[in-house]
Amino acid sequence: MATTINITKRTDTKINNVDFNNLIFGTVFTDHMFYCDYKDGQWQQPQITPYQAMSFDPAARVFHYGQAVFEGMKAYKDEEGKIFLFRPDQNFKRINKSSARLAMPEFPEDFFFEGLTELLKLDSAWIKPGVGNSLYLRPFVIATEPAISASPAKEYRFMIILSPAKAYYAGKVRVLFAEKFSRAANGGVGFAKAAGNYAAQFYPTSLAQKKGYQQVIWTDANSHENLEEAGTMNVFFRINDTLITAPTSDRILDGVTRKSLIQLCDDLNINCEVRNITVSEIKTAAKNGSLKEIFGAGTAAVISPVEAFEHAEELFELPEIENSYGSLLKDSMLKIQHNLAEDKHGWRYEVR
Ligand code: PMP
Repeated sequence: MATTINITKRTDTKINNVDFNNLIFGTVFTDHMFYCDYKDGQWQQPQITPYQAMSFDPAARVFHYGQAVFEGMKAYKDEEGKIFLFRPDQNFKRINKSSARLAMPEFPEDFFFEGLTELLKLDSAWIKPGVGNSLYLRPFVIATEPAISASPAKEYRFMIILSPAKAYYAGKVRVLFAEKFSRAANGGVGFAKAAGNYAAQFYPTSLAQKKGYQQVIWTDANSHENLEEAGTMNVFFRINDTLITAPTSDRILDGVTRKSLIQLCDDLNINCEVRNITVSEIKTAAKNGSLKEIFGAGTAAVISPVEAFEHAEELFELPEIENSYGSLLKDSMLKIQHNLAEDKHGWRYEVR
């Protein structure tokens, strides 16, 4: 690919200092990073440089008004050393949808894909083959213009940093259904990967953690009766042999994993309904034994099974089941992502 990127390489590498068997998610970064500034109404020449700290003016608007959006995606390597992304077009569209909602300029498609390609080729050694191993990609945009009036910035920086991630199975999670706090409201920014959405969840999630729950399942802000999504995952419920997940809306993130799982259900003849799902329906199903599984779905873990949930001081433990849809779907997704199964929907994107 002809590149318009100005590339400055590191002469050495940090990789030999990294213990790939004991990675703590999101703490280790590769040798290079990509960035591109927006000023005078346009995106400037993109840069790849050694990964390094950057300095920003204290008045940069991102520090004051949180004008910032991000994405989360992964790169995989097969046994032949080929590098793949999973549906990167979806992340590209989503970051621009997020930017538009935050009054930020959209990033050009050719810069996005060229940036990812060149960066992944340079730091390819950081992607280990094998199911579960991956390189987590974090594209993000921040408002850099030094001016603190409460209005959109005229200058931004788009960046991509890369962090190796180990196959991780965090175990089953215990979750709390939200009764008081909300993550998103109608007309708000819930559908966007806006930085502030995540900051606002830390406090209610820390309260849940004190009670022994790792995650909150958010409910709608009006009635707290409709189950929506988790902090960084969409959620699926299985009642008898039917999976149910909430429809996307302006409150819910349109997850790439969620939409891929809905398609995979179709491929695997699993009945999957996209409809509103209420707390009372799930509690009734838990009481009468028809609730078989709950799992979160997102890029980080693909599927995170839930072992118990609490609502209104009532605790429900989920049964151990054979033929879990969560495990079946996770296995199918991982095989497609790692080039070990047919890719009939054209989801794999080879980086070359
Ligand atoms: N919901 C939220 C709020 C998220 O942050 C994420 C992670 N991007 C997801 C769901 C899952 O989305 P994806 O499958 O695209 O990772």
